[in-house]
Amino acid sequence: MSAVASVKIIDGKATSARVLAEVREQVLALREAGTQPGLAVVLVGSDAASQVYVRNKVLRAEEVGIRSFEHRLPADTTQDELLRLIALLNADRAVNGILVQLPLPAHVDEHQVLQAISPLKDVDGFHSANVGGLAQGRDVLTPCTPSGCMRLLHDTCGDLSGKHAVVVGRSNIVGKPMAALLLQADCTVTVVHSRTRDLQVLCRQADILIAAVGKPRLIDADWLKPGAIVIDVGINRIEVEGRSRLVGDVDFEAALPQVAAITPVPGGVGPMTIACLMKNTLLALDLQQQAVREERIPCPSPC
Ligand code: NAD
Repeated sequence: MSAVASVKIIDGKATSARVLAEVREQVLALREAGTQPGLAVVLVGSDAASQVYVRNKVLRAEEVGIRSFEHRLPADTTQDELLRLIALLNADRAVNGILVQLPLPAHVDEHQVLQAISPLKDVDGFHSANVGGLAQGRDVLTPCTPSGCMRLLHDTCGDLSGKHAVVVGRSNIVGKPMAALLLQADCTVTVVHSRTRDLQVLCRQADILIAAVGKPRLIDADWLKPGAIVIDVGINRIEVEGRSRLVGDVDFEAALPQVAAITPVPGGVGPMTIACLMKNTLLALDLQQQAVREERIPCPSPC
C-alpha cells in the first residue's frame, strides 16, 4: 500500500514539529561541540504582518537553541544604512544566517539588498548565486516555502520520480524555485500562470499540483485529476458570514473527495516555512564550515 492511501490530509503542523525536533537535536550536538548557530533577522519599518512573521521566526529560533539577532530599523532607513548593517552581519562570526524580511519600503532597492547578503548566509535562498545554483542542481540554500513543500511531498509519497507536477504561479519566492526543486526530484514539471491558456486542462493532468497564486479557492474539484496530491501554498483572508477566515488557493472541501492527499490552510505549508528556515540556518553553518575547510573563506575563529 502506498503511503498516500493512509494520509489524505497532509498535516504540516506535525511535519514541521518533526523538522524542528531534528533541528533541535542537531543544534544540541553543535552546542556540545562548542558552536551555537546564529540567525539575524532584519525588519525595516512597522508593517503589521511582517512584525508577526519576524516575532515568530525569532521565537522559533530560540525554541530550537539557535541564537537570534533581531534588527528592527525605522521605515526611513536608507539603502546605505541597510547595506552597512548587512556588511556587518556578513562579517559577524556569530551570525550564520541573515534574513531580511520582505517587503522592504518602496525607497529601498530590494534586489540590491538581497544581493548584498553573503550567499553562504542567505537562508532565504534569494541571492542570484543560490538561485543559479538551484537551477544547476547544486547543493545550495533554497527558498524555505518550496523546500517545505518538498518535505511534505517526500513524506507523503516518497519517490517523486516521473510524476507530472504542475506548479500554478511563477513568482521568484515560490513558483520558480518550486519548479526547480521538483525537476531536481525527477518530476516532469509544467509551470502555469496568469497568462496560461487552457489552465484547467493542464492542471487536470497533474499527479502533483502546487497552487501558489494568492486567489481564494481559485482551483476547485474540476481542475484536479482524481488521485492527485495537492499542495496549497496560498494564504488568503476572506469574510465568511461576517467572520474573517484563512483559505487557500484550492477549494479544500470540494477537492477532498477527489484527491489522494491535500494540505489544509491553515496548518499545511505555512508551518513548514519557518521550520525550513531553521534547517537552512544549520545548512548555512555547514556550508560556511565547509568553505573554511576548503580555504574559500577565512577561518571564523582562532584556528
Ligand atoms: P505572487 O503574487 O508573487 O505570484 C502569484 C503568481 O500567480 C503569479 O506568478 C501569477 O502569474 C499567478 N497567477 C495570478 N493569477 C492567476 C490565475 N488566475 N491563474 C493562474 N495563475 C495566476 O505570489 P507568491 O508570493 O508566489 O504567493 C502566492 C500565494 O502563496 C499567496 O497567497 C501568498 O500569501 C502565499 N505564500 C504562502 C507562504 C507560506 O509560507 N505558506 C509563503 C509565500 C507565499
